[in-house]
Amino acid sequence: MKSKFIKVLIIFIFFSFIFIPLFKTGAVIGLSKNISKTKLYKVAIILINFSNTTITNNSASIIREKMYDVSVNNYESVAGFIYEATYGRFQITGKNSINGSQDIYGWYTIPDQNINCPSHHLDWIDEGRNHAILDGFNENGYDTVYYVFNGAIDCGWEGYAIGGNKAVSANFWSANIVHELGHNMGIEHANSYRCTNSLGNFVPYNLDHVNCQDINYGDPFDIMGTNWLHYSVNNKLKLGVVPMNKILNITTQSNGQYDIYPQENIINGVNLIKVYTEGDFYFTLEFRRPYGVWDNFLNSDFVVNGISIRQNNRLIDMHPLTSIFDDAPLAIGESYFDQLSGRTIQLLSVNTNKAIISISALDQINGVCRRHGPKLENYSSFNNGSIISFKIRNQDSIACSSSVFNIPVSVTITGNDEEDYVEVDQSVLLSPGESMQFQTNILPGESLSYGLYNHYPCNIIQNITGNCVGLPIHYNYMPPITQSPLFLN
Ligand SMILES: [Zn+2]
Repeated sequence: MKSKFIKVLIIFIFFSFIFIPLFKTGAVIGLSKNISKTKLYKVAIILINFSNTTITNNSASIIREKMYDVSVNNYESVAGFIYEATYGRFQITGKNSINGSQDIYGWYTIPDQNINCPSHHLDWIDEGRNHAILDGFNENGYDTVYYVFNGAIDCGWEGYAIGGNKAVSANFWSANIVHELGHNMGIEHANSYRCTNSLGNFVPYNLDHVNCQDINYGDPFDIMGTNWLHYSVNNKLKLGVVPMNKILNITTQSNGQYDIYPQENIINGVNLIKVYTEGDFYFTLEFRRPYGVWDNFLNSDFVVNGISIRQNNRLIDMHPLTSIFDDAPLAIGESYFDQLSGRTIQLLSVNTNKAIISISALDQINGVCRRHGPKLENYSSFNNGSIISFKIRNQDSIACSSSVFNIPVSVTITGNDEEDYVEVDQSVLLSPGESMQFQTNILPGESLSYGLYNHYPCNIIQNITGNCVGLPIHYNYMPPITQSPLFLN
């Protein structure tokens, strides 16, 4: 027992210098990253007409212009929207031609009528594709191949992203095309939360979002929700078009006042604020203003006079007693108190240029404790008999008391998860947000055969609530190196 204690003590002293509290730093602006290049997003269009429909005002040339002409700043321009809403970082083009003239196929008239869409639309797509192949179409090299029907009437959808970089629409409707291309570019629906507290009253957000209804398309301020407006700044971030130096991460334990600039352009200051509440969890704050062709808000609209707050990428309603979400943003002078972190977010002022917000410290007294399993960071795969080094971080909310984490000095791998032998004799007390570096010896068991293993032994790290996290061990057990015949003479 005594020798074990000394070993723990030595390890503790050795690693205590790399003890890094999460909330030690104040507001941190992310590192600047150069993403000024425009990505040419290559689209083919295949137009499919039916035996009982006629092409009226949707000639191929009109559709080509709406899809590809970025210079056409009219409301119907798909390319124009995507260019404006991604700060010019995505430009819709063809593969064979910038203006799409060599990438649009059809109209092709197929024998079917425009009915029975649910059971026939995949066949219609195949027929259109076969026609296009005869005209030289080759799907390799396109980011999306877009199939457009000439007014299929009973699909039950306006359009959808099929997967495999295909999409289909029942009609050519620019807003819908933009929405489905958004899916293929990697973003999901813009949803909202409608929440009640334990008394059944509507509240902006429920602590554990257990009593929150997730409303599909519920965010009215995003084309991935209900209206043809710019993507929310959350979705722009997912698209990878928001430079890191436009994001402000608030992890501070002191009170602060912050400026946020309209997200529609990234000329000035900060365009996205992340307010951390516990571990990796955060709210996002967004400011919108009337801008360009598509963020055509009125100066009196709620959204351009307030701050939109989202949690888990879902809009939360600062005025939950009204059934609509158009008034979801926090208005001037209003405050939002987050139960979990004890933080208060207040909107101090708004003008055409920027909004000013005050954000209070993480509050250990007024916050609510919520436990999470610890986070494992900085571990790597290793070979036979290696020592693995890793960092664990306490992810509990700030109001929680400190937790004890037990870490094994050695783990014996036998090839069977249940038989993994874990010797736990390092312990450390970490408060919320704190992290510490450790090492563990990995030993092959007697019955272990050579090969690759992935192990998730539990109880390696455990905090006082009983949450545990399996340390993922990527283990390559190699045969011992034997003398080569070359060395025998
Ligand atoms: Zn969708």
